[in-house]
Amino acid sequence: MSNSKGDEMTKDFLTATDKNPSCIMPTKLTLDSPLQFECHPGVSCFTACCHNIKIVLTPYDIMVLRRRLNMSAHDFLVQYTEPTYLEKTDMPGVQFKLTGEKYACPFVTQEGCTVYADRPTACRYYPVGMADFHEGGEEGEEDKFFFLVKEPHCKGFEEQKRWTIREWREDQGVDVRDEMNKEWLRLVMRRKSFSLQATLSEAAQRMFFMASTDLDHFRRFIFESSFLQTYELDAETVERLRHDDEALMLFSFKYLASTLFGAEGLPMNQEKVKEKIKAMRQEQGENLQKLEEEYKALKAERAAQKKQEEEARRKS
Ligand code: SF4
Ligand code: SF4
Repeated sequence: MSNSKGDEMTKDFLTATDKNPSCIMPTKLTLDSPLQFECHPGVSCFTACCHNIKIVLTPYDIMVLRRRLNMSAHDFLVQYTEPTYLEKTDMPGVQFKLTGEKYACPFVTQEGCTVYADRPTACRYYPVGMADFHEGGEEGEEDKFFFLVKEPHCKGFEEQKRWTIREWREDQGVDVRDEMNKEWLRLVMRRKSFSLQATLSEAAQRMFFMASTDLDHFRRFIFESSFLQTYELDAETVERLRHDDEALMLFSFKYLASTLFGAEGLPMNQEKVKEKIKAMRQEQGENLQKLEEEYKALKAERAAQKKQEEEARRKS
């Protein structure tokens, strides 16, 4: 799929539906389209979709889950996740680490989801995927459309409950997730729209991973490095970043957009910019000087070699 406004932002990439595209219904739906579907403990397939599935976690998912479990981001990541790459990009992320012979989500039991109120974004979208063509400028409803993912094992479509897509999404609480994930998903889609020939440097990948998965670490990066001397942030923002995880997460998206894609909106301290340029020039100058010295040494070596060869020829 393509669009003049840019690549599509398919929330469905948070699950592994791309591995089985035949389950994606070809009809484009709107918020007012009807949906006949219900999922409850009485369906014969209850929790089937919580097994053998790839659930990619957004930064907001991680923040909410580890808060619920009262764990540090680091401990949560180690215990419940494993590394992955995000939708055909070289951007590193995490997915749930499945357990047991049935490859179960770590939070599923026979009674259902044990973290239901804080379940990840991917679990809330299923079975309604969303594609968003918006990449910049004003947002509009016309940028979005929805589609159904109808997998054979999912019996929810045989239930009688009728909704509109809008009602279903409200019921699943996806709006706040959409808002919180928006800028992060946009980073992923922006990266995807660039050719993979221009790979992200290792340092950029590390920064993206750290900021997207471990807010504790990102906070330490801000407060325990020269960050606050490099960027000009007002005192109120600095205080919020110190205590407010949501604010820190949204700020991390802004920072990533600026460092990965040169997006504006994060003013740098001009003195620091000058210092950096000076250091770069100095480094460049030193490199050039080194190259020149190496070139001179090579030339001298060649000349000495040539002289030796000529002398050897004369003697013979
Ligand atoms: S988090 Fe809950 S809803 Fe999502 S896959 Fe795990 S058990 Fe299922
Ligand atoms: S497979 Fe469908 S109906 Fe069954 S538990 Fe999952 S979402 Fe509900």
